[in-house]
Amino acid sequence: MKPVVTRFPPSPTGFLHIGGARTALFNWLYARKTRGKFVLRIEDTDVDRSTRESVDAILDALAWLGIDWDEGPYFQTERKEIHNRYIDKLVASGHAYYCSCTPEEIDAMREQARAKGLKPMYNGKCRERGLSKAPGTVVRLKTPDSGVTVVNDIVKGDTAFQNAEMDDFIIRRSDGSPMYNLAVVVDDLTMGINTIIRGDDHLINTPKQILIYQALGADLPVFGHVPMVLGPDKARLSKRHGAMSVSEYRDMGYLPDAVINYLVRLGWSHGDQEFFTRRDLIEKFDLEHLGRSAGMFDLSKMTALNAKHIQAKTPAELGPLFLPHLQHLGIDAPDDVFTHQVIETLQPRSKTLKDMARAARFYYVDEPEMDEKAAAKFLTPEMADMLNQAADAIESLSDYTQPALETVFKKIMADFNLGFGKIAQPLRVAITGTTVSPGIFEMLLILGKEKTVQRIRRAAGRM
Ligand code: GLU
Repeated sequence: MKPVVTRFPPSPTGFLHIGGARTALFNWLYARKTRGKFVLRIEDTDVDRSTRESVDAILDALAWLGIDWDEGPYFQTERKEIHNRYIDKLVASGHAYYCSCTPEEIDAMREQARAKGLKPMYNGKCRERGLSKAPGTVVRLKTPDSGVTVVNDIVKGDTAFQNAEMDDFIIRRSDGSPMYNLAVVVDDLTMGINTIIRGDDHLINTPKQILIYQALGADLPVFGHVPMVLGPDKARLSKRHGAMSVSEYRDMGYLPDAVINYLVRLGWSHGDQEFFTRRDLIEKFDLEHLGRSAGMFDLSKMTALNAKHIQAKTPAELGPLFLPHLQHLGIDAPDDVFTHQVIETLQPRSKTLKDMARAARFYYVDEPEMDEKAAAKFLTPEMADMLNQAADAIESLSDYTQPALETVFKKIMADFNLGFGKIAQPLRVAITGTTVSPGIFEMLLILGKEKTVQRIRRAAGRM
């Protein structure tokens, strides 16, 4: 068996969007699973719309997702000579020919076909004329007049296209530039691609591509056309459904592993398993379970999955992904033990890393911002004595540990005749400025004695 070679050929006319990322993933996973090869090719022949910024944005997003490539990035515009060599071969072997028909002539042919109730198309006028290259000529592929071209699709099954409805399409423009389908086939062929998974919006190109493979006497790759990702309203996913670009999800605090997990599940299944680590996916991914029906993008599901992935990681793994979000809040923290402890206390309660950064703020700032509602409710004058006593007792501790803090709080509960909840909430507001936070003990221990005492005193002072 030849090794599997897959590819991802984005057009650099914008960022890497969710649908493209999913296609890249399917191809990448299959290559990794089979220990084959994954090739990256930039299809930049639309020079008006292709930009270097888009190339960079796509490479950057792929790197963030952890999708690495074994070859490339190749640039289609740099391969024009190779494409043209194959076109010349097709002309030499009689599978393609020069055509000198003018746009007006072509329009007339289309009109004639329409008048006969047929599909408007080129009528093959130059097929047997044996024209040579001359200014203004295009090259057309000789396509069969009858029969069918069948796409054997591993996702959709067989789809037959009537050859009579396909004209001798152009493979080289009069300016000498190769047409899209020709370039794709020559690239796939010369790069040894034998497995092509792509969106079913490309299915209409596939019969043309198959005819080019056949004309070149080449073996066909395996094709799999996956349904487009839909929005919750069942329309094709688009900007109006929310963020479309992978990097926006990075900025919103999603983990690459969660995005990968969610996107793969939007078109592939493994029983009813929902949560997959990257390793799991590589191990279990297969082409047999690519879905025939379109997946619906549901942000709340991806968010729930993100929370699970946050919990499944170690604080040290999360550190480098978390710090940029802190930085965004103006906090420059190192990836150290303190930060790992902070992360550990917030992992069970964070849906995104952005949430986590917001919730972590109080650990890093000198004076946490006070939620005035929380302060009005819990930092009441009656609590001032309790807080002052807590501050004094904590300050005098020689060993600052959980058992020591427990002893302090037990005494306060007895002295003031209050339950733990009644003293914990004012303390929490004093320490964090809010009513929602990690557990009191873990939080106080990470923050350290000095800061703890300082914050409690400051809160008592406000009353
Ligand atoms: N460049 C095409 C796109 O970005 C992909 C073509 C293909 O997969 O064959 O949609």
